[in-house]
Amino acid sequence: MNSKTIFEKSHPGRVGTMPPPSDCPAVQACEVIPAARLRGAKPELPELTELEVMRHFVGLSQKNYSVDTQFYPLGSCTMKYNPRVNELVASLPGFTDLHPLSGCQHVQGALQLMYELQKGLAEITGMEAVTLQPSAGAHGEVTALFAIERYFKANGENRHIIIVPDSSHGTNPASAALAGFEVVTIPSSADGLVDLEALKAHLGPEVAALMLTNPNTVGLFDVHISEICRLLHEVGALVYYDGANMNALMGLARPGDMGFDMVHINLHKTFSTPHGGGGPGSGPVGAKGELVKFLPGPTVVKHENGYVLQKPEHSIGRVRMFWGNFLVMVKAWAYIRALGAEGVRNASRLAVLAANYMRVRLQEAYELPFKRVCMHEFVLSASKLKKEKGIHALDAAKALLERGFHAPTIYFPLIVEEALMIEPTETESKETMDAFVEAMLEIAEHESGETLHAAPRGLPVTRLDETQAARKPVLKQ
Ligand SMILES: *Cc1c(COP(=O)(O)O)cnc(C)c1O
Repeated sequence: MNSKTIFEKSHPGRVGTMPPPSDCPAVQACEVIPAARLRGAKPELPELTELEVMRHFVGLSQKNYSVDTQFYPLGSCTMKYNPRVNELVASLPGFTDLHPLSGCQHVQGALQLMYELQKGLAEITGMEAVTLQPSAGAHGEVTALFAIERYFKANGENRHIIIVPDSSHGTNPASAALAGFEVVTIPSSADGLVDLEALKAHLGPEVAALMLTNPNTVGLFDVHISEICRLLHEVGALVYYDGANMNALMGLARPGDMGFDMVHINLHKTFSTPHGGGGPGSGPVGAKGELVKFLPGPTVVKHENGYVLQKPEHSIGRVRMFWGNFLVMVKAWAYIRALGAEGVRNASRLAVLAANYMRVRLQEAYELPFKRVCMHEFVLSASKLKKEKGIHALDAAKALLERGFHAPTIYFPLIVEEALMIEPTETESKETMDAFVEAMLEIAEHESGETLHAAPRGLPVTRLDETQAARKPVLKQ
């Protein structure tokens, strides 16, 4: 594995291309650029042939692990395949060449697309209105919490507590704290759901909202959801839906109908936008009733003579400048339009079927902490394997890398010891899922803590000190 940097591969005097001599009259740089702005020394660029450059970058790209090359069952992340036609649509010059400062009258098509996406997402989530402003799920959470804070202030109420279950995604308490709320964490019940008694014990006039993922992070649908929403509403509080797991429910059940007041959705998870490389993403927020007035603006509104940008009445204002992630919206729109109502419903059905197929095949060799039918993902535990053979969840994950698979999410959610969280998504074939299951079974059966001590072997990056790797990453190797 040649991991020299392009600078280490450089040879003085080597050139990539040889353009023909220029037939323009020579102009001294100093005639155009003030002398003080000119650099003294030549830039230290690597010197290589075109072929060397090509091999270097193609080689780097092949070290990349992606959904396009292999199975990526990273739980909670919905690493599904993104149909290429969405990319094609998003690359049309009518979209890519838009100027963010164009007047509404010049970008009616783009506004129509955003309007239809707002409508579609509102329909799928059971909300009245949707804003497309937030850039990701976490950004959507904090945006919604700002709106919730403003809503209670407008009503003259001082509610400063946000309740989160201990199975919640780390962004939930983080967003609540960032928005200035006090976070109260409640334990999960023995069956992995919200503990109703613990919830009741914390309800009162100071509670602003409960943040909940449903299906939750262990992949279970909370069967008490109507009761939970009723309890919150009874004390005048709201219920926020973390929609990162919407891939389990599209077209089948709507958070709005369950009683949730606000939601965010991750377009880059559920609605088929590539992610994992750092963005851009999109985390639209939906709201019902009085909360609609507080959404960030502008949102797209349809008037008699066209689409316009308009701020909701008591809007908390912008949460981003311009429309940098507009092309993500185009992909999500194309995806929803291509599938239609029955299509998205089937995508969710297949995602749930795939997860349950894998769960049933793996639940003997690995422990299944909550013995129930799961939704689009499931959580196993390596705690028995750890006791019997010294195989930790981390060892199993590294052993999977050696076998050509991306690891599942590990050590999350925190309520499961030695957690392995698997989300196959609807886009994988039975053969791929079987191959992954066989690899998992083989690891459980034939490996041990000792044999896996140095795993993954033979990859560009082998076993790391995880703490050092996170704190002091060496990115050039
Ligand atoms: C991914 C995820 C988030 C955060 O979404 P980002 O788009 O990564 O900011 C929040 N909650 C859950 C359950 C998630 O899986």
